Amino acid sequence: MKIDQVPEAIRGHLIPHPQGEMFYRCLGCGSVHDISRLLYTCPECAGVLLLEYRDTQTLGPSIYRDVLDYRKVINFRPLNGVFRYYEYIAPVIPPEHIVYLGEGGTPLVEANGRLKGLVGRDFYFKLDGLNPSASFKDRGMACALSYLNFLLKKGSLKNVLAICASTGDTSASAALYTSYISEGIVLAVLLPRGKVTRQQMAQPLGHGAKVLEIPGVFDHCMKVVEYLSERYDVALLNSKNSWRILGQESYSYEIAQDLNWDLENIVVVVPIGNAGNITAVLSGFLKFFKAGIIKALPKVIGVQSEHADPVFRYYSKPRDKRKFEPVEVSPSCAQAAMIGNPVSMPRVMRLVDEYEEMGGGENFHVVNVKEQEIMDFMLRANRNGNVVCTQGGESLAGFKRAVDLGLVEKDKIGILDSTAHMLKFISFQEMYFEDRFDPAYEVVPKEELKNFPVELTTPTFKSAPKQEDLERFTREMGERVAEILGLNPKK
Ligand SMILES: *Cc1c(COP(=O)(O)O)cnc(C)c1O
Ligand SMILES: [Zn+2]
Repeated sequence: MKIDQVPEAIRGHLIPHPQGEMFYRCLGCGSVHDISRLLYTCPECAGVLLLEYRDTQTLGPSIYRDVLDYRKVINFRPLNGVFRYYEYIAPVIPPEHIVYLGEGGTPLVEANGRLKGLVGRDFYFKLDGLNPSASFKDRGMACALSYLNFLLKKGSLKNVLAICASTGDTSASAALYTSYISEGIVLAVLLPRGKVTRQQMAQPLGHGAKVLEIPGVFDHCMKVVEYLSERYDVALLNSKNSWRILGQESYSYEIAQDLNWDLENIVVVVPIGNAGNITAVLSGFLKFFKAGIIKALPKVIGVQSEHADPVFRYYSKPRDKRKFEPVEVSPSCAQAAMIGNPVSMPRVMRLVDEYEEMGGGENFHVVNVKEQEIMDFMLRANRNGNVVCTQGGESLAGFKRAVDLGLVEKDKIGILDSTAHMLKFISFQEMYFEDRFDPAYEVVPKEELKNFPVELTTPTFKSAPKQEDLERFTREMGERVAEILGLNPKK
């Protein structure tokens, strides 16, 4: 739609202008810091930061909802992605500096009858694997890189060395966005050797990032990146970077908008790794709730594998017994969430308290699931018309667990996060089909979920035919196919 086709009362609010101020707030000591510095931890107490706003004007909820609906259909590229929600993301970035590579606006796909029957509730997958680098990480990266792009174009930043540790998808996304900006920024990524899939590895390589492999798991890479960011002049692109959290809040905003702002009966299910995503989901719903844009906070359920479940362990204790303790991870098919010491845990604790308080309690839970369930549910989801990754399988397994535990009432509808595309994690499907799982995974393939290609030959043809044999080849091969498929001859 063209902008001049939009009703006049809305038109003036469609294209935003930078306004107000943003600043970092430390969740440890409460101190406030200027955003002109690249800051990832509090300079005073090393606590984790979140971004807040000062002097921003927002519209009333009813007109703002209309503005958002029109932004969905107008042809104004900077707002076609996560910045549709500009006022609640980063209202200090001029629209001309927003980097839009096709992220956000991912579909809600309703589970078919068979899949619903398996779980006993109605639900949808939100397919965040349909982002440009095929994971939800693009939401946060679009925001973090738009901000860096703004500083670069303004000239207040030069020759940036961006860096991140990654279980695969952060590096893929960071590589995509930095390669687009290209001038004045280069990226180095630290990956745990042997702990990212070939498809994930191909992405930062293909986008030209410097890829460094470290022995160990993600938590070790993160330690090294933290060491570097404290001592050297680097721009950190992990979710410790609070700009990424803001972009990822768009996930919640889209759910609200796509459900016509009614979240009364909704249960949102999210896999937890480094806990950046769950932070953003909670924060996004809270912001829209406080602004009156939504009238109810949905229930939020985090899911972790038994092989990497520090957040589950924390919340499964009674409130007065809770003390956060990192865990040592063991191999997990939900490899992108295989993290024992989530960086955003302090953010989660803060937000959960607020979420429960504002929602009247009992609206946040964490469940854990078996590796076997992650794989079986991923395969079943994809056998019913979805394209979910192992972490999407984890969401479905977690939803089922929550239903069995009585956390999801009969009339509730699930929105399950499939955080990446199935193809990124296809090596786990291959290990399942070929029975190649290391025992440490604790996955035993079920015969009925396996699938293989059938190789066809005939006594005459073991390889492709010559041109003059084509007729015979077609006949013999056709009869083999008919036999295998049990086809009935036409009457
Ligand atoms: C990063 C990632 C996660 C975990 O998200 P956190 O923000 O680290 O909790 C889950 N699934 C996929 C596919 C990811 O790339
Ligand atoms: Zn502090």
